[in-house]
Amino acid sequence: MHYNAAMRMLLTAGPTREPIDPVRFIGNRSSGNVGAAIAEAGLRAGHDVTLIAGPVTAVMPQGARRFDVETSRQMMDAVMREFPQHDLLIMAAAVADYRPKMVRQAKIGRAGKLALELEPTEDIVATAAASRRSDQRVVGFSLEAGGGIERAIEKLRRKRLDLMVYNPAETMGSTVIESVLLWPDGRRQSLGNLNKSAFAEILVRQAAELLTSATQ
Ligand code: C5P
Repeated sequence: MHYNAAMRMLLTAGPTREPIDPVRFIGNRSSGNVGAAIAEAGLRAGHDVTLIAGPVTAVMPQGARRFDVETSRQMMDAVMREFPQHDLLIMAAAVADYRPKMVRQAKIGRAGKLALELEPTEDIVATAAASRRSDQRVVGFSLEAGGGIERAIEKLRRKRLDLMVYNPAETMGSTVIESVLLWPDGRRQSLGNLNKSAFAEILVRQAAELLTSATQ
């Protein structure tokens, strides 16, 4: 089956917030800009877009079905609930890798030293990839500090993704993105420095391409 026509695209964007107490959280600097650009490119290409957004500062395009979440656990639940109704998952969100093991019920007051114990969050994209049908495809992002393309390749394999976007950490908050697309068969395509909307258009096209080999 060819996917020049509409695909049902599930996309995550932005950071997650992992609560420490009722007023504090652990977050990150993700704006959701890349996710917004991908959603826009998907809609422009005529795809059906569902967006699961963390607390983004970027303006998300109208026209996507949108669910707002805050924590990685909520994002996990939303992804696993929505993924069966979609052909493709693009996991562009900057999911927290760790969260406080215990969420305090009351605001923590200042009283000397404080140590927070963190536990790893569930790996959403790996869980989704492990559950995918033969007609579904999964794309991940790997934001690595300082030339960590080998780490991105290792993650592509370990998480069993169909396509990984490697990009350096400077991308966060920037209007441009320097990226390399990595496939499990060893192919790679360096996209150089592009504005986020040009990048998103290529990514959506390559993601749709993954589905041309999908068995229905
Ligand atoms: O944080 P990491 O470099 O492993 O992220 C790589 C990919 O895994 C990204 O697509 C990210 O959205 C996803 N991820 C996830 N769940 C996590 C951590 C990362 O789905 N808990």
